[in-house]
Parts: sequence; structure tokens; C-alpha cells
Amino acid sequence: MAKKKSPPPQPAAGRTITVIPGDGIGPEIADSMMRVVTALDLGLEFEVVQAGLEAYEETGELLPAAVHRSLRRNRIAIKGPTTTPVGTGHKSINVQLRQQYDLYANLRPIRLIPGVPSRYSDLGDRLDMVIFRENTEDLYAGVEHMVVPGVAESLKIITAKASERIAVTAFEFARANGRRKVTVAHKANIMKISDGLFIESTRKVAKRFPEIEYEELIVDNCCMQLVVRPTHFDVVVLQNLYGDIISDLCAGLVGGLGVTPGANIGRKIAIFEAVHGSAPDIAGQGKANPTALILSAALMLRHLKMEEAAVILQKSVADVISAGKSLTLDLGGSAGTEEFTEAVLARVRRRKSSLSRSRSSGGKTAKSAGKANGKTGRKTSTRKTARRATSRG
Ligand code: NAD
Repeated sequence: MAKKKSPPPQPAAGRTITVIPGDGIGPEIADSMMRVVTALDLGLEFEVVQAGLEAYEETGELLPAAVHRSLRRNRIAIKGPTTTPVGTGHKSINVQLRQQYDLYANLRPIRLIPGVPSRYSDLGDRLDMVIFRENTEDLYAGVEHMVVPGVAESLKIITAKASERIAVTAFEFARANGRRKVTVAHKANIMKISDGLFIESTRKVAKRFPEIEYEELIVDNCCMQLVVRPTHFDVVVLQNLYGDIISDLCAGLVGGLGVTPGANIGRKIAIFEAVHGSAPDIAGQGKANPTALILSAALMLRHLKMEEAAVILQKSVADVISAGKSLTLDLGGSAGTEEFTEAVLARVRRRKSSLSRSRSSGGKTAKSAGKANGKTGRKTSTRKTARRATSRG
């Protein structure tokens, strides 16, 4: 049977982005994110489709066909969190999307934002790592069954193909962005066959990148090292379940779940989403911090090669947080989602107009963009890093 041809790539401007607001605080933070991206005036359109528990109540489906149609058409999406019942009920929508669209690389940059309370604030720019989590297999695929009453079995499936693919993505990212080291965490001392295959695969890939230091750490030791000396890490490669747990640990290093963005990258489709969940404890109260989803939108803009807009977005959020006047509750302030969003919108408008003033005054664009980036040396490479990594989809 002839293979269906995928549609040709769309130009970034005029592109339509699928937005899945999700459950809990999802609609509040998605609304904030869309307002902020719209203020950048990039000619992007949003197509909002519903998935999750609220979609289920309306349509009887958790992932309605309209979501799939929109994802296949637009191939770029940004998603709010969706609720997954514990113990019983439906399979995670995230897991379904990652598996169905082969979104094999979960990218999570971990950096301190000045003004976000963290035990590690004094480390400043030195705390700067990028996590690459394999996104499609491992225990996290949720392949499990009851063997007999009282005995449950969960299958940890690891393949050389998926392990090499995530390692190549991480190493190429490191090479393209002047990163010095790739660390792989595993438990191959106990799971000698499955984790053994994982590190056998990553070792094989590492040989093709001799200029990049390759390190293996047993995953429990890796957790301890992350807490004791987080600056030791640069690029970290993890299987799916370790990656899920360790990326929350790393979110904690830089001030919590409310500020940590993420991206799920596949060959054809990419879905950007915050690391945090649907926060049912604060849903509908106007208290949610939209930072992580706005920063996920910045990753998405880089993926679309809209670097300047991504920098404006990132710096506008950083401006508001470092000013400290409109911080949300999770960051020790008293502002709600609306006040924070308005503060970011004001900064976006100000940065945009100062950029166009400097353009119309002639020849200073590069300088202004550099200033907007506010970064030199290593930090610049971090931005490139995110750009390269997210542009692989
Ligand atoms: P959670 O991330 O929703 O919340 C943990 C804590 O962090 C809560 O106290 C919450 O109020 C706070 N928090 C999280 N995001 C915040 C934000 N943006 N602003 C302010 N505070 C914030 O984790 P949980 O409670 O373990 O999970 C709730 C639900 O979310 C579960 O059903 C889980 O399966 C789901 N979940 C979804 C995703 C996703 O869709 N990507 C990711 C993780 C968890």
C-alpha cells in the first residue's frame, strides 16, 4: 500500500498552532499564554481543541477525533496539563499522545530565573542543564496486568532503537551548542538486561562524539549528586520513568514546577507543555502561575525559528519575576494569574517597541537583540541548545 505523504512544512508566520488547554489550571494558564504570544504579533493563529476530563464530560471522549485532526494538520501544539486518575481509570493522555505521534524526545531545560526563590539561587548561571528523557517506552508505557489476584506485573520494555535515538538527540544537541558533557543515569547494576541495553546503546553513540565527555551514574547516586552539586551536570539522558522523576527533582532545584517548561519532539509533530500537572488544589481560583507554559511557548517559537520573539518572551517573564512586584503565590507573592499576565504583557509590549525603535533608528538591531538576550558566552549557547534541540522535530 502506498505510504501517505505528509503535508509540506508550513512557513512559521501565518502558521496555526493547536492549543489543548487541558484540565484543572490548564484553561487559565493557556489563556494567559495565548494572550502573551498574541501580543508578540507574529501572525500565528491558535486552534483550540479540548482533550482531558472536561472534553470527556462534553463529548464522551478523552482525546476526541478533533484533537487528532488538528494535530495532524498543524503539527505544532502547545498543551496544558491533563488529569490522570491514580490507580484506576484511563491511561494518561500524555502517554497516549507521546506514543501515538512518536514524540520520542522530552526536552526539559533547567535554569535559574533571577527572583525565583530557590535554595540554589547563589549558583546563578552555573546551574544550567538540559534533560533529555526518552518518551515512548520503559515502565512509563504502562504495559501491566494482574498475573493472579494479589500479583501485578508491569513490563519494562527497552529497545536499542529508542535508546540510541534519544542518545543521538542529546549528543547532537551537545555538539551543536558547545556543551561539554553528557551524563546517562541508569540502574544497570540491578536491571542488567534492560538498563544494560540502554547504556550499551548510549555508549555506542558516545563513541561517535569523542569531543564530548561521557559519564554514567547509577540513578540513585545521580539524584544525590543533583541535589548536592547540580552544577556538575550539563546534558542529562534518562529513560522515561527516571526522566519523569528526575525532571521534577530538577524543577525543584530552580524554584518549582510553576517555572519549568518542556517540549515533546518527534520527527513530524512537536507538543510543548509545562512539566507541572493540572494542580487541582488551586484550579479555577485564578492563582496559577502561567510561567512554565509561557516558557514552553518560548521553546515552541524557537522550534519555529522565531528566535527573537522567543527571547522577548523569555526576557519579559524574567523582567517581571526579577522585579518581584507581581509574583504568584507559588513564588512567594500575592498576585493572581491575571495580574502576572498583565505584567508580562506590559513587558512584552515595551521590549517590542524598544526593538522597533532601535530598528528604525538604523543599524542597532543586533546590539538590541543582544541586549534583549542579556547573555554572553555559555548562556548564548544555552539558547542555541534549546533552538537546535527543539528544531529537530
Ligand atoms: P501538580 O503539578 O498538578 O501539582 C503539584 C503542586 O504544585 C500542587 O500543590 C500545585 O498547586 C502546584 N503547582 C503545579 N503547577 C503550578 C502552577 N503552574 N502554579 C502554581 N502552583 C502549581 O502535580 P499533582 O498534584 O501530582 O498532579 C495533579 C494531576 O496532574 C494528576 O492527575 C497528574 O496525573 C496530572 N499531571 C499531568 C501532567 C501533564 O499533563 N503534563 C504532568 C504531571 C501531572
